[in-house]
Amino acid sequence: MGFSSALQSRAAHEALIVRQDAELRLMETMKRSIQMKAKCDKEYAISLTAVAQQGLKIDRADEMQGSLISKSWRSYMDELDHQAKQFKFNAEQLEVVCDKLTHLSQDKRKARKAYQEEHAKIAARLNHLTDEVVRKKSEYQKHLEGYKALRTRFEENYIKAPSRSGRKLDDVRDKYQKACRKLHLTHNEYVLSITEAIEVEKDFRNVLLPGLLEHQQSVQESFILLWRNILQEAAQYGDLTADKYKEIQKRIDTVIGSINPTEEYGEFTEKYKTSPTTPLLFQFDETLIQDIPGKLQSSTLTVDNLTVDWLRNRLQELEGAVRDCQEKQMKMIEHVNGGSPVANGSIISNGSNTSNGIQSNKDSLCRQSKDLNALRCQEKQKQKLVDMIKCALNEVGCEELPSGCDDDLTLEQNFIENGYNNEQQQRSNSTSSPGLGIMNELMRRGGVLTLLRGRGRHFKRKSTPQPATPMTRSRQGRFNKLQPRSQSLGSLSISLSTNRPLYEEEWFHGVLPREEVVRLLNNDGDFLVRETIRNEESQIVLSVCWNGHKHFIVQTTGEGNFRFEGPPFASIQELIMHQYHSELPVTVKSGAILRRPVCRERWELSNDDVVLLERIGRGNFGDVYKAKLKSTKLDVAVKTCRMTLPDEQKRKFLQEGRILKQYDHPNIVKLIGICVQKQPIMIVMELVLGGSLLTYLRKNSNGLTTRQQMGMCRDAAAGMRYLESKNCIHRDLAARNCLVDLEHSVKISDFGMSREEEEYIVSDGMKQIPVKWTAPEALNFGKYTSLCDVWSYGILMWEIFSKGDTPYSGMTNSRARERIDTGYRMPTPKSTPEEMYRLMLQCWAADAESRPHFDEIYNVVDALILRLDNSH
Ligand code: ADP
Repeated sequence: MGFSSALQSRAAHEALIVRQDAELRLMETMKRSIQMKAKCDKEYAISLTAVAQQGLKIDRADEMQGSLISKSWRSYMDELDHQAKQFKFNAEQLEVVCDKLTHLSQDKRKARKAYQEEHAKIAARLNHLTDEVVRKKSEYQKHLEGYKALRTRFEENYIKAPSRSGRKLDDVRDKYQKACRKLHLTHNEYVLSITEAIEVEKDFRNVLLPGLLEHQQSVQESFILLWRNILQEAAQYGDLTADKYKEIQKRIDTVIGSINPTEEYGEFTEKYKTSPTTPLLFQFDETLIQDIPGKLQSSTLTVDNLTVDWLRNRLQELEGAVRDCQEKQMKMIEHVNGGSPVANGSIISNGSNTSNGIQSNKDSLCRQSKDLNALRCQEKQKQKLVDMIKCALNEVGCEELPSGCDDDLTLEQNFIENGYNNEQQQRSNSTSSPGLGIMNELMRRGGVLTLLRGRGRHFKRKSTPQPATPMTRSRQGRFNKLQPRSQSLGSLSISLSTNRPLYEEEWFHGVLPREEVVRLLNNDGDFLVRETIRNEESQIVLSVCWNGHKHFIVQTTGEGNFRFEGPPFASIQELIMHQYHSELPVTVKSGAILRRPVCRERWELSNDDVVLLERIGRGNFGDVYKAKLKSTKLDVAVKTCRMTLPDEQKRKFLQEGRILKQYDHPNIVKLIGICVQKQPIMIVMELVLGGSLLTYLRKNSNGLTTRQQMGMCRDAAAGMRYLESKNCIHRDLAARNCLVDLEHSVKISDFGMSREEEEYIVSDGMKQIPVKWTAPEALNFGKYTSLCDVWSYGILMWEIFSKGDTPYSGMTNSRARERIDTGYRMPTPKSTPEEMYRLMLQCWAADAESRPHFDEIYNVVDALILRLDNSH
């Protein structure tokens, strides 16, 4: 069914017009999108060109010469460039296609117009005739009515006229004839127009309209054909499977396929072919130790008390690492062999390879075998170290700890290591309190304490041993027999009588600092027992003078017994007595024999010797108490050291005691003793009833006379003169660190920062420096001498005369420092004797050498006092 028969109606005609409009719009849409596609393709081509160019920026240097992979890549990129060009060409062709579509659209628009006009034309003739017929019919009706009327008149007149003539009748007749003629004419016209209309209508329907529609159909169909061709062309230029692309892709596949792993490095290997490398030699540099006598030997592990713990830890770590390696290897083998370890430890294929998995399986096997080799190497390497350490430890014997140094630097080292490791210390303080003495440690371990208490032995000035507890009695005979040196010991001998704990033994010196230990052990065979902290563990150390000083750490066996190289004993006392009586060296290597137990000195008090009464002050390390000595009922002052402080701090705390011990001067606070056997460690001093000078000055500001103030200055100068003569630099001389007794006598105290040296250079940070009291050269260069104390003494004088004012008040430390450096000095306090202020200024001389020494200061102040006394 074609247009001609199917689309004759008016509605179909209108629909056909609408359809053509829609087609034109579709064409427009297509045109736009093809244009866009062309644009896209062009842009893609540009990007692809850039990709290819980027890919071609490869290193063309010699390094890749002969590389197939590099060559293939270059070809691949060239092909990409071709591809880009092809895309560009196709995009340009698409633009041509677009133009064609534009022309087609124009033609289609014209054809639509022509159809519309032609249709209107043929329809217009039919319409015209239809109108004509209607008009002719109405004319016909009009003339028919006129004719009828005139005919009626004529008939009437005719009847009425006797002669059938007359003018009037003629007239009527004439009119009647005319009307008749008109009617007949109109009739004919009407008949003709109807006939014509019938003919035209028939032609319109049967000839003209079908012809027009048929033509229209053919026109439209030919447009569709053109349109299809255009679309085909567009599609063709976007076809990525087109031969051109296929060829490019084929070439790319070929060049990539030409990469051959086995040939890849052929040329390279040929070019760089060398003979196998010679092994790298690692050798111990002997020059490192040529100046160090004895202890360190090339390529040999040093096992001594400094290193033994470290070595043991390292051994443990390494053994763990070896086990780790072994476990990993086992796991790997099990995994690869599908859960079944193979006797020879090799990896075998489990036969589960599928054809396309062969390569990846091969790779993974290869990788696993490589990993396994790496693990084996690791195991071997670590095992070598394990063997080396084991061998070294065995050689020395685990129980013996040779001294790491010729003298007791060993324990200094130990001490320092423990002390400086503050952070670690503080952490562990909160849990295991490494800073606590071993006694506290032992007290926590109730069983050990019982052992010590239950079987306490001690050296006694009696030659016959006391009966021992049943447990140790069997050994007692042996001790008794082994007492050859009671003569050489004079009145000292050993007995097994009491049940005292270790810390009550006369020869147990608690945590006595090493300086003191060295001082106490003077002759070969002198020994004492003390406590030290190693690796956060309290350890008991036997210190012996034997070709220098040797220190043996008491070993604890798994059963909780104590030993050196010989048999284990249930208590430390028994062990020491065994060594003493048997005359056997503590270790074969050291040859050290115990001859004379060195007992605690007068000033080494037991903590139980003092009874703390009331707190009278608070120091840097802990509270200060008024206390009573049990033995003499003497009132004393006791400085305590907080248990939680790290060891380094405790050592610093004891430093004061160590320094004070040697001094005896009315203006230096006196040391009575130190208590180091258990916590808290304490320093026992003479009680100075007025307390801190600074507080005293402030409290008694109204009552103090110039004479008293000068007296205080003289006392301080006397004390400092004494210290200077002993080469002691106080470093913290200030009113707060002086004490005053009820007679206004001043005593220098607080020797926490003191050093017994002529000159002391501070190398570490100066965090807690009392800036306003410290001489510029000490602040600027860390250089301390007694002349720095002189500067501080000047400030002390100023404090005394200002009755406890703060120096450089209103200035920060750094401001005061700045101003002093530019020559500023504090003005004289009110009512200070001129000479005293002059002395202050001399003490504050920028050049240390221009300052007076304490001797001179003392003389000046003394003379001034004399003059004052005489003037009254
Ligand atoms: P630290 O050196 O730890 O800072 P101090 O020596 O400054 O401790 O003592 C703190 C306070 O304890 C002093 O200001 C003082 O009041 C009091 N004090 C210290 N030693 C004595 C003593 N020997 N006699 C009387 N009081 C003392």
